[in-house]
Order: sequence, then C-alpha cells, then structure tokens
Amino acid sequence: MKYIGAHVSAEGGVQNAPVNASKIGARAFALFTKNQRQWFANPLTKTSISQFRENCEKLDYKPFQVLPHDSYLINLGHPEPEALGKSRASFFDEMKRCELLGLDRLNFHPGSHLGKITMEECLALIAESINLAHDKTKGVIAVIENTAGQGTNAGHAFEQIRYIIDRVEDKSRVGVCIDTCHAYTSGYDVRSKEGFRDTFSKFGEIVGFNYLKGMHLNDSKKELGTRVDRHENIGAGFLGEETFTLFMNDARFDDMPLILETPDDTLWEAEIRKLYSMIE
Ligand SMILES: [Zn+2]
Ligand SMILES: [Zn+2]
Repeated sequence: MKYIGAHVSAEGGVQNAPVNASKIGARAFALFTKNQRQWFANPLTKTSISQFRENCEKLDYKPFQVLPHDSYLINLGHPEPEALGKSRASFFDEMKRCELLGLDRLNFHPGSHLGKITMEECLALIAESINLAHDKTKGVIAVIENTAGQGTNAGHAFEQIRYIIDRVEDKSRVGVCIDTCHAYTSGYDVRSKEGFRDTFSKFGEIVGFNYLKGMHLNDSKKELGTRVDRHENIGAGFLGEETFTLFMNDARFDDMPLILETPDDTLWEAEIRKLYSMIE
C-alpha cells in the first residue's frame, strides 16, 4: 500500500500537523517537532503530546506513516568538537521529542565535512553521533537522507550511506530516506526506465531495501549530476510525471511515508491525488 503525503505545517503546535495533513488528503506526513531554524526549543507540553497522539489516532496515522524531520542547523559530522557537541545535543533532543510523540523515526541530513576533514572521517563521526543518540533514547530509528552532494555535504552516494550504517551498533534503529530530487542531481538517473532500474538495484545491493524507511517525492529544478538541491513540483521539473509513475507502481516503496516537499504547497492536495491516480 502507498502512503503519500507532504511535509505539513506544525504552526501552533505539533498537534496541528495531522489535522493539516488530513485536510489535503494525505495518508502520510512529515513535520518539524520544533522550529527548524533553532538549536533548542521549549519542551513539548503534556497537552501538545496528548493532542498529537489523539489526532493521529482519530485521523488514522500510525507511526510508520509519519516522518519527522530534524533541524537544518544540525551537523552530526562537524569537524570541530564544540560545534559537533552542540549538534549532538540538539539531535538527542529531537530524538527524544519523537519518542515522546510515540513516533518511530527521525529523518536527518547526514552532515558536512566543511573541507576540514576527509569524507570518511565525517561519515565515521556521523555514525558515532547516531550511536550516542541510540544510547540515550528508545525505539526511534535515525533515518539518514541522501543528499544532492551540494558543497561539502556527505551522503550523496549509496556507498557513503552504507559506510555510516556499517559503523552503527544497533542496526535495527538506523534507516534511510531517499529524496528523488537529491538522487537525481547527485548523479543517479532515476528519470529513465533503465536508470531507475539500475539506481535501485544498486541501492538494494549497497544499502538494502530493509533500511528504506521513507521517501521524499520531489521533482527537480536542476539537471542530472549538477549536485544542486532545488525541488520542483511534481511533473514541472526534469524528472517529470513518468518517473513518479515508476515509483507509484513499485512495491519496494510500499508501507512507508512518501513525502512531498515541493515548493508550491497549494498544489499538494492535487499532487497527492495525481500520484494516487498513477497507481495501475
Ligand atoms: Zn528531502
Ligand atoms: Zn532537498
């Protein structure tokens, strides 16, 4: 079964996210559990937590249909100890928030080496960061998102994601989210039928579909291999509707949150409907 949704607003409190998702016909959703541009925030209130849980139950969103996203400030592979420490503390707080909300996964951008350490050193730090967060939390899977490979960002190649996973002690609590726009601009040609087949057979061999815990469905404003992260609405970018038809009819993407992060949110309702209509 396909669970398609979008990264909805949690303005006014996390409890509003499931309501916003249901208004646009989403069967999955993503949210920030706090302001994504701040390092730390006030703890979630008891009311907010219980209302979130109630709304999810009422609107029929199970944990596997929800993919929280962490703050953009966090760099779990930061080359400098002080900044790394701050990122780790903030990430731990985000994991804890998910745990309190009864959610089972947290999506994050792996990190950046900032030109100061090697890619491998950066990836090893990211794995260590995950291990540290695991020690202090229960039940939440750290979901590594593939990146477009912009600047010094790690995690644009499947081998890099594997390198992190290999160093995570509790493999039951590490996962992967593939962003279709990032995959394409980082150099995986998911647009053609052949490229799609090759990309995901590589993903299966190198990473393994057992680790796939969600997808970001975005079209791309930029061409293959440009390593630039610019999302476009479905069908309006280089990927086009046909690419998304391939995803919609592939059972390897069943039973996980499939999340739109396309720029024009007034189109989400129509995009969700369109994606569902592609299923043959
Ligand atoms: Zn994404
Ligand atoms: Zn992106």
